[in-house]
Amino acid sequence: MVTVDELFAIDSLLSDEEKDIRDTVRAFGAERLRPNVAEWFEAGTFPVREIAPELGKLGLLGMHLEGYGCAGTSATAYGLACMEVEAVDSGVRSLVSVQGSLAMTAMHKYGSEEQKQRWLPEMAAGRVIGCFGLTEPDFGSNPGGMRTRAKRDGDDWILDGSKMWITNGSVADVAIVWAQTLEGEKQVIRGFVVPTDTPGFSAREMHHKLSLRASITAELSLDGVRLPADAMLPNGRGLSAPLGCLSEARFGIIFGALGAARDCLSATIDYAKTREVFDKPLAAYQLTQAKLADMAVELGKGQLLALHLGRLKDRGELRGEQVSAGKLNSTREAIAIARECRTILGANGITLEYPVLRHANNLESVLTYEGTAEVHQLVLGEALTGSKAFR
Ligand code: FAD
Repeated sequence: MVTVDELFAIDSLLSDEEKDIRDTVRAFGAERLRPNVAEWFEAGTFPVREIAPELGKLGLLGMHLEGYGCAGTSATAYGLACMEVEAVDSGVRSLVSVQGSLAMTAMHKYGSEEQKQRWLPEMAAGRVIGCFGLTEPDFGSNPGGMRTRAKRDGDDWILDGSKMWITNGSVADVAIVWAQTLEGEKQVIRGFVVPTDTPGFSAREMHHKLSLRASITAELSLDGVRLPADAMLPNGRGLSAPLGCLSEARFGIIFGALGAARDCLSATIDYAKTREVFDKPLAAYQLTQAKLADMAVELGKGQLLALHLGRLKDRGELRGEQVSAGKLNSTREAIAIARECRTILGANGITLEYPVLRHANNLESVLTYEGTAEVHQLVLGEALTGSKAFR
């Protein structure tokens, strides 16, 4: 018997250091996260304050950023770590992505030296939690239309508006908030570093989610939030600034979503080998084997694509439409695998005793955030035809 990794000889494509990182994160997931994850999911909560410092100690927060206490690994190693974390739960990987690829990356790419020195080392250690506020109630796929405004008052900035669906919003110490500013007559999007204890900032946790339940999601309200002049990220101007961060988070998802799919498939193979129907194991029926074979092939192809994109990124050659192709493929195939696995588990598949429906439900969010599947189809459509079809 072989695993999907063995079938596709994945290890032969990894360096010793990459395998070490993967194995370390896998062991952490097995010991520290897996025993509790179903309970967190059921309760609709996640102990961010307790787990983030442990993720920090492992070097997972801002993992492929250089300096400021960050681990500075390759992008591929970061992707492999995301895969292992998401094999436990997409909610935990969301914490890693939002902290490292969104909030920390915004400061690392666009922040002043003072902003980087003040925030990044503590965030890399997981002692300070960050969130990233781009989406608004009326602007998700089209954030360029955002209504949140930052106006000058002397040297200060005053922020007014609201943000929705913000991961870790209600537990964060610092929020990166994107807002429209006026430069002359022109509206320009800028990022602001907002300590969450600033008067006028409030966050309300969103409940009743059926997906990413082991992750905190919040609505942010900015009501006359007064910030000093140096709260603005000086080196990111326009919508391309937040999109540059999203591209980093999408890269992690290319690997991460496949971790969730792998966990579904391995739990399902174990189940099918022991579950007997009509006097023999489910795994010994041709229909079951056809499903398992098709899923293994999609998972293996997805991993090969992810590794290829990781190598391109490490060479500084990865383009936006390639990230879109990877995010679209990984999330679409992962959710298809999770749902197919659920059929093999029958009624047992709908419980939290097995990970498959939890992963499938989580992947509904992963398919939607960081650019919906349709938005990535449009990015690819534009790259293939030269015609923009967004509006
Ligand atoms: P809409 O933009 O309203 O899209 C609805 C549907 O219309 C989708 O199917 C979409 O593909 C389709 N559509 C949109 N435009 C087009 C078009 N031009 N042509 C054809 N179809 C189109 N945001 C943050 O800023 N920070 C976070 O930390 C964060 N965390 C999140 C956590 C969770 C659990 C979730 C669910 C979301 C999170 N988001 C976050 C928000 C997420 O990025 C948005 O939900 C996403 O961008 C989609 O926006 P929307 O939900 O408003 O959907």
